[in-house]
Amino acid sequence: MSIQLASVSKSFDAHKALNSVSLSIEDGTFFVVLGPSGCGKSTLLRAIAGLEPVDAGEIKLSGQAVAGKGLHLPPEQRQVGVVFQSYALWPHMNVAANVAFPLETAGETRSAVAARVAECLETVALTPFRQRKPAELSGGQRQRVALARCLAQGARTVLMDEPLANLDPHLRSTMEEELAAFHRASGATTLFITHDQREAMALADKVAVMWDGSILQADDPDTLYRRPNSKKVAGFIGRSTLVPVDVLRVENGEAQVRFGNVIAVVDCPDQTVSGPATLLLRPEHLVLATGTSGFEATVERTIYRGGYWEVFVRLEGLSQPLLMVLHRKAEPGELLQLDILRGWVLPE
Ligand code: ADP
Ligand code: MG
Repeated sequence: MSIQLASVSKSFDAHKALNSVSLSIEDGTFFVVLGPSGCGKSTLLRAIAGLEPVDAGEIKLSGQAVAGKGLHLPPEQRQVGVVFQSYALWPHMNVAANVAFPLETAGETRSAVAARVAECLETVALTPFRQRKPAELSGGQRQRVALARCLAQGARTVLMDEPLANLDPHLRSTMEEELAAFHRASGATTLFITHDQREAMALADKVAVMWDGSILQADDPDTLYRRPNSKKVAGFIGRSTLVPVDVLRVENGEAQVRFGNVIAVVDCPDQTVSGPATLLLRPEHLVLATGTSGFEATVERTIYRGGYWEVFVRLEGLSQPLLMVLHRKAEPGELLQLDILRGWVLPE
């Protein structure tokens, strides 16, 4: 099932929770919406599921309009499964019964239900736990029950609203792997919502960065990381330093820039920039110089991250420190000779 949104808006009183959101999610994609708390992620999901009528714009599922002018199909006619942060399991029913429940209410035969439940529990690796009650399961296992129930309904589209937010870090990474496996096994179009950029990068085929009711950029994780279209996206994805620079020259997608005493050649998508601009430097763009090239920088402070150090270095003529990674210890005050490997001049 594909999902299309065209200029979808939704307000609560004076507040625009969705501000003309347009998105295109291809069939079978694991699509992540990433944004800070309150930016409208849940409202977006609820609008797609049919739990929230929209004020304007159009939503299509598999090419069919489900919301638009004078149209609002109820959730049960949209064939999308929703997994919320709270698992919404029946406490008095065991795992198998929880998964079977929507099938039974849909009037399927006993044997068809049993076969389907067995299959779905196998997919989420819960077969040995089929007789347990939700209270006898860990948070991650309960989440898997909710996933299995979603699968059992035959949802070709699964919407997940921060399903891992309540789990401890160890369980989260296990669940990330399970979600990825679940997606491969089911092939269901998945819309996954999170405020955690690490989670988004790990899971997504495509990530949409959302901010204050709007989508800022939708791209694959690597493009978002390497080629963010704005300071906001750059700041939200990965670690970086934004450096004010002077663009001296642009040619063939590259720019010669100056900041402090440094002149460097970096990537530049916008061939019209000149003069003051913003350079995005990822930690890996700064490296120890080989030979006699490079420029001098002073170590300001370091943070050990297990196997490597994050190092903030100061350059003459630059007001903020730059962040880099070293695989050896460095002491504050130490002089380093550095090179700039790449960088990305943000489009104006
Ligand atoms: P997110 O999921 O990104 O944290 P939400 O979509 O839940 O954000 O909320 C977006 C904004 O809309 C918030 O400012 C929130 O307070 C407001 N909002 C959401 N639902 C309602 C509602 N039912 N009534 C009033 N305001 C709401
Ligand atoms: Mg939310």
